[in-house]
Amino acid sequence: IGPSPFFHTPPATEADALAILHLKRDSLLPITLRATADDGYAEGAVTNTRFGSFPHSTLIGLDWGSQVRASKVDTGTRGRKGKQKQQQGQNQDTAGNAATGSADGSTKKRKSEETSLTDDISEALTKKLKQLADGAQQVPTAVKAPIEAGSGFVHILPPTPESWTSSLDHRTQVVYTPDYSYILQRLRVRPGSTIIEAGAGSGSFTHAAARAVFNGYPDSTTSKKRKLGKVYSYEYHEPRVQTLRQELHDHGLDSIVELTHRDVCNEGFEVPEAPSPPKADAIFLDLPAPWLALKHLTRSNSGSPLNPSAAVHFCTFSPCIEQVISTVSFLRKNNWTEISMFEIQHKRLDVRRERVGLKEEGLRGVNAAAATVDEALQRLREVETKLSDFHANKDVANGRIEGKEKKIQSKAERLEKIRQDVESRKLYKEGNLVQRTEPEIKTHTSYLVFAVLPREWTEADEQACVENWPVGD
Ligand code: SAM
Repeated sequence: IGPSPFFHTPPATEADALAILHLKRDSLLPITLRATADDGYAEGAVTNTRFGSFPHSTLIGLDWGSQVRASKVDTGTRGRKGKQKQQQGQNQDTAGNAATGSADGSTKKRKSEETSLTDDISEALTKKLKQLADGAQQVPTAVKAPIEAGSGFVHILPPTPESWTSSLDHRTQVVYTPDYSYILQRLRVRPGSTIIEAGAGSGSFTHAAARAVFNGYPDSTTSKKRKLGKVYSYEYHEPRVQTLRQELHDHGLDSIVELTHRDVCNEGFEVPEAPSPPKADAIFLDLPAPWLALKHLTRSNSGSPLNPSAAVHFCTFSPCIEQVISTVSFLRKNNWTEISMFEIQHKRLDVRRERVGLKEEGLRGVNAAAATVDEALQRLREVETKLSDFHANKDVANGRIEGKEKKIQSKAERLEKIRQDVESRKLYKEGNLVQRTEPEIKTHTSYLVFAVLPREWTEADEQACVENWPVGD
């Protein structure tokens, strides 16, 4: 079993690795890096974003966290690839070129790309019509959209449950990090735990739970000494099951997560392929009617999915208070204890240190926005030069320029003095720490109901306990 990229991050980005492109705050994109791929681009595999195009060749072999500039990417389809290859030398721009790429006749290029796109679409449509006429099953090759010259940048990050939650393809509402981190902690989920989860939905909680229980992979020498963690996950919507199953496989998590296609409210938590019931230490239900599934979570039924020798910790995630009432009512009537309800009101705090600029140094009139003395001097010279140029066209120019030069000279001398003072200090440490909060709590996510089912305590358990009780001298 290969190591999951969620638990083992290679030192640098590599081919076939899952990576997360951080486009901007709250905008992440998962990609699988491919060294070679025939995507219809001369550059091989390319990821297109609204911040530009990123050939995978520019993303492989980097330190995680690197900033990558967009590249200008040649467009086309497989049909025109030979021609593209001839042009490749001219078209493969460096990152620097990409940033200024639109200045070099790109309008002309774009026009020709648009024309070729029209050709591509009509070619694909003709092909599709022909296939339909032939009764063929195959879908025609996708037509690539023209790519603008790159102008932005992204950061490349390793996958984590958090970045996966923010970037995954949402098939359902998902549980977000502020909620699942609290839930997993309250459920006491730790390496080696067994947790039941239903419904699996988009697999956001599943990934977080898999990391929490992970205690190594099955292995003949260690599995007897070490309890391996397990997530038993249930989902009754078949397409979601298939998508999540593929993702878990791609992420190397299929030995940790046992995903079962099942309606837990009607059929309970049995796992047909497993030799024994889950024996769960913790349960998390993200279902519309969790109280209907709860009837299967008792110790009395034969083949109970609960760990018989430990207290079981339980949580539901329900958006409506009516759901909470029904769940709590069931829990109270069925021997669950420590019942409580919480709501996570997540609020982002933006903490940063205020910049000590020239304004704070008493140079309000010079250029308060400039970060450094050099920057201020540079801006001052630019402004003054523009003014001088303007006046140079007038008759009075000479006298004025002289006056300006003197002014610049005296301001420059003042700045020079300040530079000497500032350079001897660590300005970045002098700014006040300031904190801004989001003005309001954005949305209500859900109510979290927690409860504990104590382990059963029989006369035999009591007897064994008394017999083993250490007796003093
Ligand atoms: N917790 C998931 C996540 O973080 O991605 C999202 C769960 S989504 C809100 C609820 C899921 O429960 C849906 O995918 C739905 O199909 C599934 N579901 C609803 N009733 C179910 C049942 N009786 N048995 C199994 N799955 C069920």
